[in-house]
Amino acid sequence: MQVKVVTRILEANDRMAEENRRRFAEAGLLAVNIMGTPGAGKTSLLERTIAALKPHLRIAVIEGDLMGSDDAERIGALDIPVVQINTGGACHLDANMISVVLADLPPLRELDLLIIENIGNLVCPAEFNLGEHMKIVVLSVTEGHDKPLKYPIMFQESKAMVLNKVDLLPYVDTDVEKVRRDALSLNPRLKLFEVSCRTGSGIDEWARWLRASRS
Ligand code: MG
Ligand code: ZN
Repeated sequence: MQVKVVTRILEANDRMAEENRRRFAEAGLLAVNIMGTPGAGKTSLLERTIAALKPHLRIAVIEGDLMGSDDAERIGALDIPVVQINTGGACHLDANMISVVLADLPPLRELDLLIIENIGNLVCPAEFNLGEHMKIVVLSVTEGHDKPLKYPIMFQESKAMVLNKVDLLPYVDTDVEKVRRDALSLNPRLKLFEVSCRTGSGIDEWARWLRASRS
């Protein structure tokens, strides 16, 4: 019974995700779903990405958090349209939540890139399609090297992995080669980026790739 219920929830979500996807396509908009653990640096990556791409693309952001609006305020300070979703307790965003808040953004055809920051969580965000064109997993070197094999779906579903905080590598024992190897064993087509949102290293390459993904 339990399985049946879960399947039905995911099917309903997929239908709504299709509707979102159709709206994004109609507007010629690239929608990106950013996932990762709390503290991996998702919002910091958004800040860096926006700074790099704002001269070229019209960007808007949907921020997902259990509560509070700290992240939306950080993005809003960059003079970018942003809407905050507070899920209360829910540990992932779903397609319906996205559909509802689209009304609070500028008309979609006036945008080029919509970045959705999911709830900090390596598990279920990967299972709920939002209608995005691609999912991106952000992982930081402080999280250790066991994450890809422990949370395979996240890495299988993602188009790219952004490994953040590489400036801290001298201070941690994380085997980055293992992270790369394991992530690629789960998803051979996964695109890998190594960045530091603190120093800005690697951001140009990531931002260039993201921009090119639009066409
Ligand atoms: Mg955040
Ligand atoms: Zn969840």
